[in-house]
Amino acid sequence: MRQRRKSVAAVVGGVRVGGDAPIVVQSMTNTDTADIEATVRQVRELARAGSELVRITVNTDEAAAAVPRIRERLDQSGCTVPLIGDFHFNGHKLLKAQPGCAEALAKYRINPGNVGRGSKRDPQFAEMIEAACRYRKPVRIGVNWGSLDSDLLTRMMDENSASPQPRSANEIMRAAVVESCLQSAARAEELGQPHDAIVLSAKVSGVQDLIAIYSELAARCDYPLHVGLTEAGMGSKGIVASTAGIGVLLQAGIGDTIRVSLTPEPGGDRTLEVIVAQEILQTMGLRSFMPMVIACPGCGRTTSTYFQELAQSIQGHIRQRMPEWRKAYVGVEEMNVAVMGCVVNGPGESKHANIGISLPGTGERPVAPVYEDGEKTVTLKGERIAEEFQDLVEKYVARHYPRRDAR
Ligand code: SF4
Repeated sequence: MRQRRKSVAAVVGGVRVGGDAPIVVQSMTNTDTADIEATVRQVRELARAGSELVRITVNTDEAAAAVPRIRERLDQSGCTVPLIGDFHFNGHKLLKAQPGCAEALAKYRINPGNVGRGSKRDPQFAEMIEAACRYRKPVRIGVNWGSLDSDLLTRMMDENSASPQPRSANEIMRAAVVESCLQSAARAEELGQPHDAIVLSAKVSGVQDLIAIYSELAARCDYPLHVGLTEAGMGSKGIVASTAGIGVLLQAGIGDTIRVSLTPEPGGDRTLEVIVAQEILQTMGLRSFMPMVIACPGCGRTTSTYFQELAQSIQGHIRQRMPEWRKAYVGVEEMNVAVMGCVVNGPGESKHANIGISLPGTGERPVAPVYEDGEKTVTLKGERIAEEFQDLVEKYVARHYPRRDAR
């Protein structure tokens, strides 16, 4: 039985992260933040896809100056998704020089590994925490192994070499990531940041490293944890690696907010990372975002592309209709729709779904029985099976889910 790890809850622009709050989906833009038009557009797309928090890069004076204007434009268009500022190297300066930016952001992401080198690190980290305290903002202490605090790592490596039973370099790297998180969080609290206004993350690109590091963090603190792989990669590799790492941790009850860091294909859609994050949570039964389409994989009994085209058209229709359905109907995201390829498993699987269709396999009679709540209701045939089935799904939604405006 899955048991969620106990953590405090941080509030990020009105969204609770941790405690008993639902696991939050977040994403990050890849636009130049100084380009207000492009950034507003992408934040809106990510929010519309279901991202509940959106992080933006704040790396220059121009980017920092753009943040309050981006916030204003989003608010004017009715998009209230909280914005998180991603700071590296010069965050202390930008937060001081641009109070409008410090105010407009709902959370500051601080990377303790590149907040400053040598003697500059502690005062610059302190400046960022002081800004968070002044503006009453939560922070994410976001350690990344690619920019791990080199002083800390060197010290731990030296101590390990001098030990009678030295551990492997990889074990020390994992331990250093955990130490960097916990020591930075403790320092932030000493500087006045409230305990429940700190979220931790420890991003690495290897699945086994991710699981080991988060398991250790989860055992040693009760801060909310932001879980995700960094540099997960492109296409199926990125999706599989993220799902494997995040899925194992979620099953162990670890993770209060997730981000799937996918490298987009050239010209690809940034919202894919939101859809994958939602699908991880939904397929694990942890949250519901979208009606699930259960489609059989097809086999030698479905030799034409007709079956794939129908499955795709139903899935596309549901995705396109969902923003309206979500606004209009209570509970529609829990609907299951089955699209099956032949008579072998088609009727059985369709009967288990809320609404399902069993298409004719090769050599079968060209008819497609439809099942609603386990009962066969109609048999479709002819050229317009896809459109007619979409119409039936639409009517099923209207009949079975209460309208919000009627409540
Ligand atoms: S339901 Fe029919 S078409 Fe689909 S995989 Fe099974 S046997 Fe093949």
